[in-house]
Amino acid sequence: MSFLSSQSLLPDYVVINDPLAENTDVLRIPTELVQFPLDEATRTVIRHLEAKFDQTENCGGLAAPQIGYSKRIIILAVEDDEELKKYRPDLSDTLPKSIWINPSYSPLSSDKTLDWEACFSVDNLSARIPRYTHISYEAWTPEGEKVSGTAKGYLARLIQHEIDHVDGKLFIDLVPEEEWVTWDEMRKMRDNP
Ligand SMILES: [Zn+2]
Repeated sequence: MSFLSSQSLLPDYVVINDPLAENTDVLRIPTELVQFPLDEATRTVIRHLEAKFDQTENCGGLAAPQIGYSKRIIILAVEDDEELKKYRPDLSDTLPKSIWINPSYSPLSSDKTLDWEACFSVDNLSARIPRYTHISYEAWTPEGEKVSGTAKGYLARLIQHEIDHVDGKLFIDLVPEEEWVTWDEMRKMRDNP
């Protein structure tokens, strides 16, 4: 049950390379720490973020700046999914749908893995991005409980991608422009390595 009775009330994705978008700065601003107890504005952001996540197919994670809120909040989930594993052979660690406030991570080794990334905030671009293979993380739930743990493989990649968003960074910032490809090109390269 939610006060959001209509999906049309949800904010649109902010897309960095949409020439008509006027609010793309929010994707570039490092967010400040969220204060507990959560105020009503922050609770609204969480409701919108979760509803947007739930209505988006093939969505592994989402960060508040992607729907226009400069808040240090992300949502993510990784299931043990056979379809996804075809493209993410390093999917081993899983995570039930989690809303994380003030998340951070640290690498547990200098090892990095290269794999494709794409993003709802970057239209029709993809690239192979190096990410730490094994990380530790910590965050707080909306109820103020601390969560921490370690993650490897695809889950570690997703956590790094989403935390980058609340630090004002996009995956395309991490490799030179020559390495960006369209989604079609990415699928061809991914399926015919
Ligand atoms: Zn993203």
